[in-house]
Amino acid sequence: MAWTSILGQPTAVRMVQADFIRDRLAAAYLFVGPEGVGKRLTATELAKAVSCERPLEGACDECAHCRRINRGVHPDVHGVVPQGGVSTIAIDQVRWILGRVSLRPFFGRRSMVIVDGAHRLTDEAANSFLKALEEPPGQTTFLLLTSQPARCLPTIASRARTVRFRPLEAGLIEEVLVTRHNQKRDLATLVSLLAHGSLSQALALCEGWQAYEALLAQVAAGQASAWISWSVPKERETLMRWLDVSIARLRDVAVASIAQPSLAPLSRERCIEAAFRMMELRRSFEEQMLSPRLVGTLLRESWLNLFNV
Ligand SMILES: [Zn+2]
Repeated sequence: MAWTSILGQPTAVRMVQADFIRDRLAAAYLFVGPEGVGKRLTATELAKAVSCERPLEGACDECAHCRRINRGVHPDVHGVVPQGGVSTIAIDQVRWILGRVSLRPFFGRRSMVIVDGAHRLTDEAANSFLKALEEPPGQTTFLLLTSQPARCLPTIASRARTVRFRPLEAGLIEEVLVTRHNQKRDLATLVSLLAHGSLSQALALCEGWQAYEALLAQVAAGQASAWISWSVPKERETLMRWLDVSIARLRDVAVASIAQPSLAPLSRERCIEAAFRMMELRRSFEEQMLSPRLVGTLLRESWLNLFNV
């Protein structure tokens, strides 16, 4: 891999790469952008470039350091993610990392700390981090990755150099799905339009597609039996995708009913009304106001109402 392997983020890559080439890495960066658009990849690429034995403008990807980082076992590159089945990053994890980087880097260059989900730091953990950013340990760069900057401590954000990542173009996602992930063109086209610019969402959609199709095909046939026995997914992300796919399918049916009203299984007005209800539901869910269980139940009810069950 190299900088060129990061697709669709020329501005972000140029910014980070320029700091690396001029040997002017900041003590902390805040990578802001949706999930699945290249933040993690960019962080890893920068970490490799820093430790690489033969760096030119970026990492060689072949030396022992690059290979260790690719395997996630380099002693100077520390990943911080939520542990132990919880969604937050605890203060103990942060303390442990700060203890490690207070020592000299193992190989003598620079320690890189990648916090994947900076908005997941607990208040305690964030405050402990803040102290480190106020007096950064030398030879350390913190890379704070987040899709929800509003939930990060503003004092942390203000001490980091912000790098913005954009949602990926649908056409780019489609190409990557076909060329790098061996997906069929038809599916790639469809999924890329539903993925909100996120490659990871697109991949998850591909993976769950058979299940989505089986249920949503019933809309076309005007039946509801599978929705009655549908078991609500427990994971937030899966449920969010169900909402996206449902909204998109309702739009399709609404459009089809304009072209051929007599053949459409559901009336256009009812589809549009239901789509709006689901969009509202999605927004509340995104703002974490409702539990997955409740959202799943409401989603199923919306569908069953449409079928008059
Ligand atoms: Zn290398």
